[in-house]
Amino acid sequence: MVLNAPILKSNEQQVLDEKSQKSQKLSSFVPRHIGPNSDDIQQMLKVLGFPSLDALINQTVPQAIRLKQPLKLPEAESEYAALTSLKKVAAKNQVFRSYIGMGYYDSITPPVIGRNILENPGWYTAYTPYQPEIAQGRLEALLNFQTLIIDLTGLEIANASLLDEATAAAEAMSLSYGVCKNQANAYFVSGDCHPQTIDVLQTRAQPLGIKIIVGDHQTFDFDQPIFGAVLQYPASDGTIYDYRAFIEKAHAKGALVTVAADPLSLTLLTPPGEFGADIAVGSTQRFGIPLGFGGPHAAYFATKEEYKRLVPGRIVGVSKDAQGKPALRLALQTREQHIRREKATSNICTAQVLLAVMASMYAVYHGPDGLKQIAENIHSLTVLLAQGLKRLGYSVVSESFFDTLRVELGTHNLKDILAASEQLQINLRVFDATAVGISLDETTTPEDLIDLWHIFAGTDDLPFTLEELTSPSLSHLSLSRKSTYLIHPVFNRYHSETELLRYLHKLESKDLSLTTSMIPLGSCTMKLNATAEMIPVTWEEFGKIHPFAPLSQTQGYQLLFEQLEAWLAEITGFAGISLQPNAGSQGEYAGLLVIRQYHENRGEGHRNVCLIPTSAHGTNPASAVMCGMKVVAVACDSQGNIDVDDLKAKAEKHSNELAALMVTYPSTHGVFEEPIQEICAIVHSHGGQVYMDGANMNAQVGICRPGDIGADVCHLNLHKTFCIPHGGGGPGMGPIGVASHLVPFLPGHPVVTIDNSTQHSNIGAVAAAPWGSASILVISWMYIAMMGADGLTQATKVAILNANYIAKRLESYYPVLYQGKNGLVAHECILDLRSLKKSAAIEIDDVAKRLIDYGFHAPTVSWPVGGTIMVEPTESESKQELDRFCDALISIRQEIAEIESGKVDAQDNVLKNAPHTAESLITDEWHHLYSREQAAYPVPWTREYKFWPAVGRIDAAFGDRNFVCSCLPMDAY
Ligand SMILES: *Cc1c(COP(=O)(O)O)cnc(C)c1O
Repeated sequence: MVLNAPILKSNEQQVLDEKSQKSQKLSSFVPRHIGPNSDDIQQMLKVLGFPSLDALINQTVPQAIRLKQPLKLPEAESEYAALTSLKKVAAKNQVFRSYIGMGYYDSITPPVIGRNILENPGWYTAYTPYQPEIAQGRLEALLNFQTLIIDLTGLEIANASLLDEATAAAEAMSLSYGVCKNQANAYFVSGDCHPQTIDVLQTRAQPLGIKIIVGDHQTFDFDQPIFGAVLQYPASDGTIYDYRAFIEKAHAKGALVTVAADPLSLTLLTPPGEFGADIAVGSTQRFGIPLGFGGPHAAYFATKEEYKRLVPGRIVGVSKDAQGKPALRLALQTREQHIRREKATSNICTAQVLLAVMASMYAVYHGPDGLKQIAENIHSLTVLLAQGLKRLGYSVVSESFFDTLRVELGTHNLKDILAASEQLQINLRVFDATAVGISLDETTTPEDLIDLWHIFAGTDDLPFTLEELTSPSLSHLSLSRKSTYLIHPVFNRYHSETELLRYLHKLESKDLSLTTSMIPLGSCTMKLNATAEMIPVTWEEFGKIHPFAPLSQTQGYQLLFEQLEAWLAEITGFAGISLQPNAGSQGEYAGLLVIRQYHENRGEGHRNVCLIPTSAHGTNPASAVMCGMKVVAVACDSQGNIDVDDLKAKAEKHSNELAALMVTYPSTHGVFEEPIQEICAIVHSHGGQVYMDGANMNAQVGICRPGDIGADVCHLNLHKTFCIPHGGGGPGMGPIGVASHLVPFLPGHPVVTIDNSTQHSNIGAVAAAPWGSASILVISWMYIAMMGADGLTQATKVAILNANYIAKRLESYYPVLYQGKNGLVAHECILDLRSLKKSAAIEIDDVAKRLIDYGFHAPTVSWPVGGTIMVEPTESESKQELDRFCDALISIRQEIAEIESGKVDAQDNVLKNAPHTAESLITDEWHHLYSREQAAYPVPWTREYKFWPAVGRIDAAFGDRNFVCSCLPMDAY
């Protein structure tokens, strides 16, 4: 204890201070995160002709919007110190055994999967598999996932994951609404669905004018026309219903039926596809994914082949490569829902790839017999539990159940039961004062049953022993499954750890991730995902917590949210943050709903026009349509900027109906548009609100703030700017920040009290879990804690420097399409390759695939402008890596020049045949007009940095014509 701190520092104290400052510098995380060191920065600035980084930034970012003071954030901590701080926060969480169920069950992550996927940057730093030749590993894992879902649900096709069960049900509702021809606008939702699913459906239905009928499927008379229905299987309270009669009646009325099914139960129960369901949705969380206080987990979506073009999200399909070998890719890729813009019925972009990969591997690891054994164990323990409870004088509501019981308390007092369960650190589900629910899971042991009986007996003295109870049978499963599943060899041959380890590694080595080279994906910000940021994700204090655990047990999480919300509010300049949306697309949807509700609340509910520049990401118009808005496009001028005159004209024209403008800043064209404040003011003057798409926040942090610029709402892609890894296409988080007048409308939640739950004005739930994919928020917390205000600001500046350096080095080879008024770009740049088509018959894909031969992942291709590539290097890439990338593109330009000059054949050349597999080069015969060496080692350093693609160029059209989305028989290989 320091009683009298000396006013004047003693010499000793000064020495100590200096020492600690020095060690702080040594251990600072900032130079670990930022690629270029100060010498590199000076060299790069010299190339650009600027004396200092600040001079560059002053010329890049409009003065009028510059943040005048540093961000108010805590002092940066070292990796070690931040982990120590977070461990203290984690310790405030209490890990109880949770038998709450409701779609979330404790599970066991097989250690081989935990370490080699979840904790492995080879898997988690990969990008969405848009370049399939270097993504065959995760595509295969996702194909396994689809096969798993198809087999378990008994339906024909499945996608490669959705965000959570509740939003998957909402997607099913949308699909049903789209295809049903009976003109009805009501949707039946069984009251036996999980409450969060019902709430999310209600939120989604409202703006579309869909009427939700929550009712009892046993008594619903179909007098009211419905276009579809959703049923829970087994029901939320555990009951297994036979839905055949309901489905027949629904079909007779032309309605589509969705069944939300627990996939583990489907190893024992008749699958929905066999009793007539049109769509099945659910969560694969209990396939080895930690509870994580709500996520991330992979939801699934399965349906009939006839609806394949309307399926939300991504589907992996089988095609063939240039050599005719089977090869995987995202099927119907150009039809990815949100790419259809305002014609889309879903806005899903980022999904839950890493979790789908893990769940699929859980099935690979256990196989059909193992999964069945796990399900049978859980069921027989549940039967035992029911028998014991009956002996204790309780009644169990249903005779037909899988793993969940609804226990009527009768004369017993709920308070006593809860007190006893708290004593034993056990969570039960409370239905009401007269009934509780218990859901067992893979981790449950007979000893746990004894604890549960103690709770209900009110004493440690049980009137029976475990052994006395009748031996459990499967007799409580009313609809037992007859059909086989998972007979494909992939689910039957990797059951030893050695075999599985090698399978995982085999797949991992086919994929190019950040462990190999930079992934310069424009708009996607593939920066460092630091190990120290990832470590807390797998701490039990964060991982083993049920999303509906009492708040008293989740004080650590509450503190984490409070701090992260405060930091994000400071970074964005907003008054309130919602951490519920679990992807950028969901942030857009939530933010627009907030705007909609704001207008509604002011009696201006007729405002429904959403202005969106033509350069916007496809999710923007798709989200607007989901919010019942009418999209009006705003033109861009020849410089790529929003055409302010057109904006004025459109805002004026729709003045009375103007709801919002959606604007990305800096623009998707990679430029800080000068008149951004004017743009916001125009919209406000016509009564509209400004939604800022924050995907490009990496160019703003510490330099300017959406809230100050004039935006009312903004989402952040934490999996872009704030270091959550892309996971091969997910998970992510898309929290929104809002100005104070919009705070009352932020999302609520039906089960857990969150800030806004009590506000009648809240928009309802937009995701199943109250704080979305809560467990990965630790990554962004760690990032901000370790960077501090100065580090974050420096990162932004270096991100802008890196992009301008690339633009400068490449501009004489490929024109930079758009620039700001001083000839500079923001944090990314668009390189124009369109002229190459005429001069050398070179398509954008030829360059993208040729980059693979040089060991690089292509930048974003043909978006937001066709025939161009958009390069975003991020601050994490070193000067050496940037130079190597530029050298590759320059070398490719020379290869193209040889085609232009006629020296090289226009058809048979290294670009058209790229990427080159080792197999295609190591052949006895060689018929091409160039050498094998030119193909594989075009520049000396490729010998050191070689990445061999697993397959050659994939035939996209073939895959769509011959649509297959489950595992091929082995003889196909
Ligand atoms: C990534 C991105 C989105 C979508 O975000 P998801 O997290 O993938 O849903 C929206 N807008 C822009 C500009 C983006 O780059």
